Formats: sequence, C-alpha cells, structure tokens
Amino acid sequence: MKRISLIGSTGSIGTQTLSVCKKYGYKVKALAAYSNVSLLAMQAKEFSVDCVCIYNDKFYPVLKDKLSGTNIKILCGMEGLSEIASLDGIDLFVNSVVGMVGLLPTLTAINKGTDIALANKETLVAGGNLVMSLAKEKNVNIFPIDSEHSAIFQCLRGNKISSAKKIILTGSGGPFWGKTREQLKNVSVEEALKHPNWSMGKKITIDSATLMNKGLEYIEARWLFDIKDIEVVIHRQSVLHSAVEFDDNSVIGQLGVPDMKIPIQYALMYPERMECDVKPLSLTDYGTLTFDKPDLETFVALKSCIKAINLGYSYPCIVNAVNEVAVGAFLEGRISFLDIGNLIEKSLDCFSPKKITSYEDVVNIDAEAREFAMQNI
Ligand code: MN
Repeated sequence: MKRISLIGSTGSIGTQTLSVCKKYGYKVKALAAYSNVSLLAMQAKEFSVDCVCIYNDKFYPVLKDKLSGTNIKILCGMEGLSEIASLDGIDLFVNSVVGMVGLLPTLTAINKGTDIALANKETLVAGGNLVMSLAKEKNVNIFPIDSEHSAIFQCLRGNKISSAKKIILTGSGGPFWGKTREQLKNVSVEEALKHPNWSMGKKITIDSATLMNKGLEYIEARWLFDIKDIEVVIHRQSVLHSAVEFDDNSVIGQLGVPDMKIPIQYALMYPERMECDVKPLSLTDYGTLTFDKPDLETFVALKSCIKAINLGYSYPCIVNAVNEVAVGAFLEGRISFLDIGNLIEKSLDCFSPKKITSYEDVVNIDAEAREFAMQNI
C-alpha cells in the first residue's frame, strides 16, 4: 500500500486527495496546512499520521493543544514543510499548496528521491528549469494533478514523446468569457469568484477569471512535457480536458466530467485505474461541445504568460509573483479586475532577463517582482 505525505491538506485538492486515500486505504504519514488548524488536527487524528505541520506559526500553539495526548510530531513554518518533504519511507509526496511557497518542498522531495504528485502550479512556473533538471538527475517522477496536465500526461501514454507535435490546452474561459474590456471594468470580487464549471480556492478562481490560470498552465505544460507548440483553446463545457496532436496529425484527447477526483486519483495510483466517485461522462447530455480561440487582447494575463515563457529566463517567475500580489490586492478591493492583467503585462517591460540557476535566484527574483507589484498598486 502506498505511503503518502501531503502538504496543503485542508484545501480543495488536499481534502479530495484524502478521500481517495481513505477509500483505497493509502497510508498517510504526514500532513501540512497553511492556517486551518481545526481541520488539520481532525485529519491528523483520522489518518493517525506520524507528523503534522502548520505553516503559519501563529497557530502552532493551537495545533499543539488540539493534538495533546497523541504521539503526533508537530511542526511549523517552512522548516516543517521541508521536514515533511524529506521524510523517510514515503512513496509519493503530494504538493497541493497554493503559491511560491510550494517550490522549496518540491525541490526537497526530489532531492530525497521521492516521486511527486504536483498540484502546486507555481512550483513549475517559478522554478521550472530547477525542478525538471533535478527530477531528471534524481530519476524522480512528477505526476501532474491539474486536470489539463493529467489529460496531456494520459494522452502521451503509449506514444513516443518525440512524435508528439502539439499540445492542445483547453480552458473553460472562466466567468467572463465573451466580455469586452469595457464590460469588465467594474467587475466585483463576488462576480469574479463565480466559476461556471469548477469549484476551487479563491486564488485559482480569480486566476481562472483573468485567464492567468491558463497562462500558468501554459508555462507548466512547457516544462512538464517539453513540447514547444501549445495551442490554447476555449472549451466552455470542460469535457475535453486537453489533447495532443502527433506527427501523423492524429489527435488524442482525454475526456470526463469536470471533477478533480479523476486527475487526483490518477496521479495517486498511476498506472492503475480504479473505480472513482465521479459521474460517468454522458456526451449526449452536453449535446454541443464548443471550441474557440482565446481573446488575448481582453485577457492580457494569458498573453503575458505566453510571452514570458517565450522570453524565458526570469520572466515566468516575475509574472507569477506579480499576479500573486495583484490577486491579493483585488480580493482586498484595492485594485480593479483589469488592473491584475495590466500590472502583469507592464512587469514584462520593467525587468531585464536574469538566469535562474538556484533556489535563491528564484527567491530573489520573486521578491523583486513582488516589490514592483506593490509599488505599482
Ligand atoms: Mn487546470
């Protein structure tokens, strides 16, 4: 039975990961969360883990209190995440935290030689070259949890990677697809938080509304699969989760109902496929499936991500950091919806390219980009 450690356990991906672990009897050895101390303590007891980490150390005493009388080792902060990422006897390290904070634990787990199920986008966006070269060196597998990347991963099975010509990366378009910039001027936080197909955390839901999410996924796909040609296609029904075109112009796609349990379970039990608690796909329920080109002039965040990965160097890290700050400011009502994309676009012109050769490089560039964002808000 697989032994799992999981960081980001109280979020949307984390809780669904635990329900798969519960259903199939996977041994959960360690858990970590940002601040939801009550749920984390409950999970730690339910799965009788060896150790648990609360990232925000303000909640450390509360967690200690809630777990008093147990043998569970209690950790906090980045040190705690790193300890969890380097535990002995783990078959799979699941990283489902949000933001740049996920990068160091990913690198730590790879260094340890532990396979990774990755839902943390920023890991690959900010430190893609570090992560992929280290994973190759250490012979570590990275199983994507994101539905699009899981789809691409599945489409590539049984085919030569060298014969894959193009990735077709699908996206729902989010709540504002079809709107003009004029119509998006006064969008409220509540409107931006309403996603038509997927239920997710706040940061990723805003990223879906700006199409930044698709941009981050574009960058991630470049690192994960090393296929340069990627076409973003807006597919409102979220049934085709992505596809790959091969040299003979055959296109293989992966379809299913929009439910993250499928990619989560696939990443956890690869290469097995077993019964999953989701509805079977009924294509006739949908009737029409639609496919459109993305509107890059309205959704400049997506355009900027494509530009960033084509420019290379530090640019993907910069757009990611600026976006994190901008989304935070939007959620607090300090900037408008369109300001998010504008700020990201502007950042590309304000930095010169820098090489990323270490984790410290990422940290420094990330900090500079955040500083830039804060000064421009
Ligand atoms: Mn996705």
